[in-house]
Amino acid sequence: MARREAPAAGPGSRALIVDVIRSAGTISRAELAELTGLTQPSISNIVRDLITDGIIHETGSAGSPRGKPRKLIAISPANRFGVGFHLGVDTITCVAIDLTGGMVGREVVPRSAGALPELLATRFDDFTNGLDLPVDRIEGLAVVAPAPYPGEPAPPEFRAELAAKIGLPVIVENDAAAAALGEFWSRRVSREQVFGSIYVSTGIGAGFVFGGALFRGASFDAGELGHLSIDYEGRACPCGNQGCIERYASMAAVVETAREIPTLRDRLGPTISGAHDAVARAAVNGDRVAFEVLDRAAGHLAVAVTSVVNLLDLGRLVLTGPGVAVAGSIYTRRVRAHLERTAHSRHRHPVTVELSAQPRDAAGIGAAALVVQASIAPGHTPGPAAQALFHG
Ligand SMILES: [Zn+2]
Repeated sequence: MARREAPAAGPGSRALIVDVIRSAGTISRAELAELTGLTQPSISNIVRDLITDGIIHETGSAGSPRGKPRKLIAISPANRFGVGFHLGVDTITCVAIDLTGGMVGREVVPRSAGALPELLATRFDDFTNGLDLPVDRIEGLAVVAPAPYPGEPAPPEFRAELAAKIGLPVIVENDAAAAALGEFWSRRVSREQVFGSIYVSTGIGAGFVFGGALFRGASFDAGELGHLSIDYEGRACPCGNQGCIERYASMAAVVETAREIPTLRDRLGPTISGAHDAVARAAVNGDRVAFEVLDRAAGHLAVAVTSVVNLLDLGRLVLTGPGVAVAGSIYTRRVRAHLERTAHSRHRHPVTVELSAQPRDAAGIGAAALVVQASIAPGHTPGPAAQALFHG
């Protein structure tokens, strides 16, 4: 069989190789050549550079059916680190991960008042000092928060100010998009998979990773699943639309419904997250009324998720975020069952639906993964806008 024309090696090839090694775990140079379509000399050069840079290492040999043992290579986990901060209403979740997505530190602290760049710079120092992470091995900081509503101002100078204060690159991203990249990275999803994640929080967002790169849209606003309408005469939404899924299936919507039910109302605390978790705990502990509230929310979500799966022909989906931390099984069951009955692609390929292993920390982990990816696989970064975000 004629060998297909090998693509020229460039920054994209380096990212491709890092990504194939990441999803394989361990792999030989010959397998890399086969999976990437790059020539053996290109593979050898890039692998040598990656070993010199400490991103990958040789881990030993595997027997080969034709005699000569093949040397295997893998990502070097503990060589460099990414730090991510997830800004909540009252808290900041701080996460550090290694190059394979393994968590090396996590801390949740109350969010105090004051100018955000100063606050986060101090937090960054405290957090990294506490973990004893060598500063020269930290690749940067990503700060993620819920996407603003249309017209809500986002301070453009914030990122540059924070980067100047900590002396490292800073990325700013929305939490649902970051969570998708975090799941992609830590689950070792291969770049061939058409991957998405649904982030259930006080609102609802989605993130998509196509060909190994986070899909960002025209203005970093892709994945606004929360404002996909399931009823054109439905509940009004602050975004201006009606029947938005966020008004039926977010944590805020679940709490709003539960507060109207006398048997539930008195058991709910004042905050949305506390009240939502109380409903979710009751639901998984056999409270019929609480279960029905969540199951109906999950049913609504399943309808919206099917639209997304049909629109993008997704192959693999993860449910994540604090909204699925306690009663995620109720959501996964509903979404799976609905997709099995209704997904347009159901006779061609399965749509895998998984529950996040760390739903509450997913956005913070994803933020740290953005840093790791931008650092060791920069050809991935989708487009010049994101490059500018990272490199200033
Ligand atoms: Zn809306």
